[in-house]
Amino acid sequence: MTRSEITPSPAVTVPRSEAEIAARMKALEALMIEKGIMTTEAVDRLADIYENEVGPQLGAAVVAKAWTDPEFKARLLANATEACAEMGIGGLQGEDMVAVENTDTVHNVIVCTLCSCYPWPVLGLPPNWYKQPAYRSRIVREPRTMLREEFGHDVPDSMEVRVWDSSAELRYMVLPQRPANTEGKSAAELAELVTRDAMIGVAPVRA
Ligand code: FE
Repeated sequence: MTRSEITPSPAVTVPRSEAEIAARMKALEALMIEKGIMTTEAVDRLADIYENEVGPQLGAAVVAKAWTDPEFKARLLANATEACAEMGIGGLQGEDMVAVENTDTVHNVIVCTLCSCYPWPVLGLPPNWYKQPAYRSRIVREPRTMLREEFGHDVPDSMEVRVWDSSAELRYMVLPQRPANTEGKSAAELAELVTRDAMIGVAPVRA
């Protein structure tokens, strides 16, 4: 391999299309298997776990429990990792999770400005837009405008918007507000209302 072949071009360091990202992933996977760092079975199992077992339905159950059990909610806000562990939820990329609560006066939204850090055990793998530079830079610069223009989520001017920058050390999730007129609902029914986007903070929970 010549030197010019191993010098990354901008197109290589910043993949532009889905096809390019997929090709890079395949190449990385092949290399890790070839070097004995990972096995095909491990890769398949990991993909299966995050496609079928771990996902926002787990975060939704956490949110619904917090809405219906004030003591659990207090524990969740004090230490999200420990509170989630009570429900058997935890693991990779969730070693230090923090739940931030939406209130009548504060709306929270999460981002990873550096890359794509995200609380996997409660939300699964991040959506593509969460990983894109457009979201990562603009949500910090003008969160209110971006929420309105890109997500159709109007946060009233009277409310403060807080943007939380996740990292490899701390990963945030939003505890959304429980919608009105849901008094009679069970935790399981409430969980069905809670979406991934609501726990990222780009959408409200609707009854
Ligand atoms: Fe990151």
